[in-house]
Amino acid sequence: SQKLLEVKDLKTSFYIHLGEVQAVRGVSFSVDKGEAIGIVGESGSGKSVTSMSIMRLLQYPGRIKDGEIIFKGEDIVKKSDKEMMAIRGNEIAMIFQDPMTSLNPVFTIGDQIMEAIRRHQGLNKKDAKEKAIEMLRLVGIPSPESRVDNYPHEFSGGMRQRAMIAIALSCQPDLLIADEPTTALDVTIQAQILELMKDLKDKVNTSIILITHDLGVVADVCSRIVVMYGGLIMEEGTSEEIFYDPKHPYTMGLLKSIPRLDLGQKQRLVPIEGTPPDLIKPPVGCPFVSRCPYAMKICKEYRPPYFEVSKGHRSMCWLLHEKAPKVEVETGVKR
Ligand code: SF4
Ligand code: MG
Repeated sequence: SQKLLEVKDLKTSFYIHLGEVQAVRGVSFSVDKGEAIGIVGESGSGKSVTSMSIMRLLQYPGRIKDGEIIFKGEDIVKKSDKEMMAIRGNEIAMIFQDPMTSLNPVFTIGDQIMEAIRRHQGLNKKDAKEKAIEMLRLVGIPSPESRVDNYPHEFSGGMRQRAMIAIALSCQPDLLIADEPTTALDVTIQAQILELMKDLKDKVNTSIILITHDLGVVADVCSRIVVMYGGLIMEEGTSEEIFYDPKHPYTMGLLKSIPRLDLGQKQRLVPIEGTPPDLIKPPVGCPFVSRCPYAMKICKEYRPPYFEVSKGHRSMCWLLHEKAPKVEVETGVKR
């Protein structure tokens, strides 16, 4: 498999009057061609800032401080704003939580897809409309020939998100970044949109980065999961490894807080107690130390290195040190 994107030691900060908020503190991961990965963490973990860095859409006072973002062999960090405009939407597309804020209420859905198609593919109006209908069909909009002339308010929330995905995919991007794409939707629609993304990944061969606070969302779509906390990657592994063989207490905590469909009302969700660290003065040791049930003396004093559990499975936790006490893992997740 070929690497499409390689993020190397990315550091992104926000320079505010109180000081430097170190939102992303040295993050490295890669995405292969055609692969879907999940980036999971609570709000403030640095996951959205990572994606905005990749898109080069950081708002002032945010700035990429260090690191490389190699996309198709070239460093995005070094690109000019003009070069980035050509890459965004065309080679890398993004969808957000609330499609209503990204769709223009005064233009029809079809116009907005056609605009994206014509801008990037230079098709004439008739062909662009055909293509728009084809895209709506691809994302599962019923009777796309008539729906293409609807305005956003005539679409339900789930259909609007489908339309956003159609716009994002209409220029055949190499990479689709989806930031909490289903958070605003109810559970049934959420499942349908995830099913769609899974389906599209195979049909259009676009790589996907799915960003979410909900570990339950990524399992089916993503083959690999990156778990972030305090601006760092805590654990990375295949979906199997993260769900059934987690090695980081933060991952274990996230697993315990996922609602489980099989338990219905009977379940007791266990939230992770405490709050994320102050990233103006980040902890010198493990960022999770103040909330970790297994914290040891060393955790406060030294940041753990990555311990390799197996090839591709790594965890930034002192529990993996050969001299650490053995910990029984009970996450409630069963095969
Ligand atoms: Fe917990 Fe220590 Fe591991 Fe951090 S390094 S997650 S504090 S055991
Ligand atoms: Mg976010």
